[in-house]
Amino acid sequence: MTETNHQVLLAARPNGFPKDSDFEIAETPVPQPGDGEVLVRNIYMSVDPYMRGRMNEFKGSYIAAFQIGKPMMGGAVGQVISSNHAGFAEGDFVLNNNGWQEYFVRTGDKLNDGMDLNKVDPSIAPLSAYLGVIGMPGMTAYVGFEEIGVPKPGETVYISAASGAVGAIAGQIAKIKGCRVVGSAGSDEKVAYLLDEAGFDAAFNYKTQDLNQALAETCPDGIDVNFENVGGDMLEAVLNRMNQHGRIIYCGSISGYNDTKPRPGPTNLTMMILREVTLRGYIVTSFMHMTGAFRRDMGGWLKSGQMTYRETVVDGIENAPAAFMGMLKGENLGKMVVKIGPDPTQ
Ligand code: NDP
Repeated sequence: MTETNHQVLLAARPNGFPKDSDFEIAETPVPQPGDGEVLVRNIYMSVDPYMRGRMNEFKGSYIAAFQIGKPMMGGAVGQVISSNHAGFAEGDFVLNNNGWQEYFVRTGDKLNDGMDLNKVDPSIAPLSAYLGVIGMPGMTAYVGFEEIGVPKPGETVYISAASGAVGAIAGQIAKIKGCRVVGSAGSDEKVAYLLDEAGFDAAFNYKTQDLNQALAETCPDGIDVNFENVGGDMLEAVLNRMNQHGRIIYCGSISGYNDTKPRPGPTNLTMMILREVTLRGYIVTSFMHMTGAFRRDMGGWLKSGQMTYRETVVDGIENAPAAFMGMLKGENLGKMVVKIGPDPTQ
């Protein structure tokens, strides 16, 4: 095979918000599969907030740092081009953790680094959806409610970064559970999407409104469950509004991912004592045993139309760094994915 494999390498560790020069597009030969190996051509790759943390040299994280000069890693869906592995046939579609490159070779077996190949069925959902609504972000929303916050019908659920991959799914799951659902997002267009399409009961633009006032107006009975994706000032405002025995599902804190020095924490943690609030962080990969239940429930909701989703699709692997940085800046509505090769199912 004479084709070229394009890969995105980590060129430098960002200082603050990433810039173009932190990434490098490399051209390498397409690898050849050896005995027991599978050659995969990626079709869609994911850009996710957690990848920003992997660009740092932070020890003590649940996941290893990307290495300078090496391809970045992340979720992708591809197709098997040739296989020397009995478990995979040419044409199979596979969810994998080898994104940021067009081609790669794996053994297909479960490895210590967890980068095995998982077959996906495009008749259940479009290939790109395995990176979003029926993939890791959808499961993050599902686990947050099933295991961490456990909302009851009639309770008020407040979701920050509500129009993104996790947030928009979380809001719809909370509606399915019979809750009153409130969200915030960073533009009027996103707020309109939450109200008109995603079925939120109330929503506000956190960039143009005072957080405490907006939460008082949109959550007049207080917040029972907060699905927190932003942290920082948002978490502080949420703490002021939590109800007795409220639960905070601490999913993410994207407002601080590009900070160069630690910020002071919320000044009002005492509210957690006064209101007997529980705050619990979690990592979705600790709940992989729930994949079957998640796929069953999500598959049903998609089929019945109770769950809808949006994607922002950027074309071309050379635009993956811009897509990633754009996602960190809020340029996405729903899940941000990069299409890096032709999709034979379309
Ligand atoms: P999104 O699709 O929501 O994209 C990120 C969004 O964050 C942007 O679109 C932007 O939307 C918003 N944002 C960026 N900066 C800020 C800021 N300073 N203040 C408020 N909002 C901001 O990403 P995901 O759905 O993939 O991830 C959402 C959160 O969930 C992240 O914090 C992520 O780290 C976390 N997460 C946690 C997991 C876990 O296992 N715990 C797994 C997966 C995700 P806007 O225009 O509204 O500002």
